[in-house]
Amino acid sequence: MHQYKGKLIVHTGSMFSGKTSSLEKDVKRFNIAKYKTIAFKPVVDSRYKRNEIVTHDLTSMNCILINTIDEMMEYTSELKPDVIAIDEIQFLDEPVDKIIAAINGFLERDLTVIVAGLDMDFTGRPFEIVKELMPIADYLYKHHAVCVKCGADGWVSNRKSKDQERIKIGASDEYEPLCRKCFLEEKKMID
Ligand SMILES: [Zn+2]
Repeated sequence: MHQYKGKLIVHTGSMFSGKTSSLEKDVKRFNIAKYKTIAFKPVVDSRYKRNEIVTHDLTSMNCILINTIDEMMEYTSELKPDVIAIDEIQFLDEPVDKIIAAINGFLERDLTVIVAGLDMDFTGRPFEIVKELMPIADYLYKHHAVCVKCGADGWVSNRKSKDQERIKIGASDEYEPLCRKCFLEEKKMID
């Protein structure tokens, strides 16, 4: 796995496209190769305490919950990993430049950085941080869910309710993957 030193791996796509599972699979492979890995996840749910380590519900990968880039830097200086994974990066509430600078800093120090994040919100607008990360990735994977209406590759995470806030916490059942065509048809019916 030495070929990934100083490289950025990005997993993106809609909800239910398997981004997080792919990130976890990567982390496991690095663990098998005896690399020291740390996984971070931005805190989006205030019910969780700062810095608490929680078990990821799907595959029980431990991750460190962070509120800021500075916290991520502190953990990294302290724990000295070879590989840093960041899940749900679109939830990190920090300026895009600051996040990119931190990631570039890790890469310059020959760390491997694996990121998973949503490419677009429920209206089809890109998440800025993911938009910035995609071109600078060494390895970029766009994953696809399956459109619930027609079975084609999904394109966007459609929100079934009419709520308009960009990030809605703990409500993944309010979304459904749709292909572009079905999404546009759905929007036409609402308008
Ligand atoms: Zn469709």
